[in-house]
Amino acid sequence: MTDSTIEEIKNRLDIVEVLQEFIQLRKSGANFKAPCPFHNEKTPSFMVSPEKQIWHCFGCGEGGDIFGFVMKIEGVEFPEALRILAKKAGVELRREDPALQNKRTRLLDICKLTAAYYHKVLLESPKAEFVREYLKSRKIDPDAIEQFKLGYSPDSWDFLFEFLKKKEYSEEEIFLAGLTVKKEKGVGYYDRFRNRLMFPINDIHGNTVGFGARTLQKEEQGAKYINSPETLIYNKSHILYGLDQAKTSIRKEDSVIVVEGYTDCISAHQAGITNVVASSGTALTEGHLKLIKRHTSNIIMAFDRDAAGAEAAKRGIEVALMQEMNIKVLELLSGKDPDEAIKENKDAFLKAVKEAKPYLQYYFDNTFKNFDLSRVEDKKRAAAVLLPIIVKIANGIEQSHWLKELAKKIDVSEEILKERIRKTVKSPGAPVQKVTAEGSVKPISRFLKIGEELLSLLLYFPEQISLAVKELVPEYFIEQKQSFLYKNLVIYYTKKEQFNISEFQQQLFSEKNDESAAYLDILLLLGEENFSDLAELSVKQYIKERINLLKRNVISLKLKAIEQKIKVLEEQKTSQNQEEFDTLSQKFIQLTNQLRQLE
Ligand SMILES: [Zn+2]
Repeated sequence: MTDSTIEEIKNRLDIVEVLQEFIQLRKSGANFKAPCPFHNEKTPSFMVSPEKQIWHCFGCGEGGDIFGFVMKIEGVEFPEALRILAKKAGVELRREDPALQNKRTRLLDICKLTAAYYHKVLLESPKAEFVREYLKSRKIDPDAIEQFKLGYSPDSWDFLFEFLKKKEYSEEEIFLAGLTVKKEKGVGYYDRFRNRLMFPINDIHGNTVGFGARTLQKEEQGAKYINSPETLIYNKSHILYGLDQAKTSIRKEDSVIVVEGYTDCISAHQAGITNVVASSGTALTEGHLKLIKRHTSNIIMAFDRDAAGAEAAKRGIEVALMQEMNIKVLELLSGKDPDEAIKENKDAFLKAVKEAKPYLQYYFDNTFKNFDLSRVEDKKRAAAVLLPIIVKIANGIEQSHWLKELAKKIDVSEEILKERIRKTVKSPGAPVQKVTAEGSVKPISRFLKIGEELLSLLLYFPEQISLAVKELVPEYFIEQKQSFLYKNLVIYYTKKEQFNISEFQQQLFSEKNDESAAYLDILLLLGEENFSDLAELSVKQYIKERINLLKRNVISLKLKAIEQKIKVLEEQKTSQNQEEFDTLSQKFIQLTNQLRQLE
């Protein structure tokens, strides 16, 4: 693979459009902004520059281009990021290129090939006639079969296995893709999926990573549904069925409807309700919610009408409450599941979507339905059911609202309920902490930030560089990257007595200081965002403040070091080190005076 492929992909894609698929960006002047997906923050410091085609977080220091972003947010290596972006850009990659291959991409290729193979069998094989009949009877259109690449796994122990081996995949690889099972006795493998209707499960980019498989046999032969096991590419708590098809629509509608089954999801899409994904019968995990949150904070749960459905709904919802997402619950008016409901009456289903109740309202109503609130026992039980849910609401205002509601309903003072909550929270095992999806990256330290701001101010207002040159030596920047750039800036400025940023950047490039040259772009981005409307007087003030803070920081660090040394000397008090002791003490007094002057 050549650099030109990477360049071509970069040229065809716009960084804002690419990142928007993962996070919600807001326009901010010429740039875009968002809360950083890589560290926890309330005020957005994650910036994207369409002009420079870079992103940078001023909170944690992460940054780069589209490739770096996809690698980081998807937790993948370069070959996969390249595939994802090449697909978006419509750039053809040569498959045999070893730079594009790693273990994971090999498994993705196997799954893609398998999905296509099962699909072809379903459409063309005479043996799949009964499956085609079944789909017709379930009113699943040819278009939907095509869109979701439904397939049929032949009734054979090694059909797929032999097919894939002919495509030069190893037995080991086919097994690792989750498509075969190891024989219990002896060696060898056999096909995992036999004589089943196949639902390829895709990741958000449309890569097939696993399969769901439904038996069509009347007599019970194993489970009705079986799934691929977790593999290197299939992590069940990070995949939602249909999300690759639904993501654009979810963004447009600013809401997602979560159903349980594959066919619920397919029926909805077929009926033109396209912001629908399926949880495949498991409770929503933090990973699922993180995926959804990239596109919307509004979730509508549409589960089956049986008790298991209600329980599954509850389990997912508790996690969502902690993530501060808005959850509504849709109550089906007809049909046992969304699939039936949509087929019976699409408009009634859409009406139910519109009238979905906020989750807590739904949960309150349902709970009270089962209790007789004139009885003390039932009041206690209602509180016992509802309080644990209320505790989990991350938003304080909302929590207080529902606490009031409960107090009113069971005619108990709010204080008593609050006391109960305090006890619940204190008891071991209770989830006191908010679940956070991010937080893998630490915020940058205060003085790194101040250094960054100072450099940014100087580059954005070069007429003030002389002010810094007089006051500040490079050593006052505690980070190497910053002091190096500042040193070069001072040298350049002293020689030229004026400043031209593109010339300065060119010079850095020509001296092979690419990292510093790229850092300039980031600093300018910070300047545009934070300082573009500063008045001249404030600019001076801002710069002086930051110079002062950096100086004080370095002096304080020096003082601490001297203090340490003096302590050691005092412990071993000998005549030899008396001299050293005196020098250090003098230095200490000197620095303390300097520090005082700066305060
Ligand atoms: Zn960050």
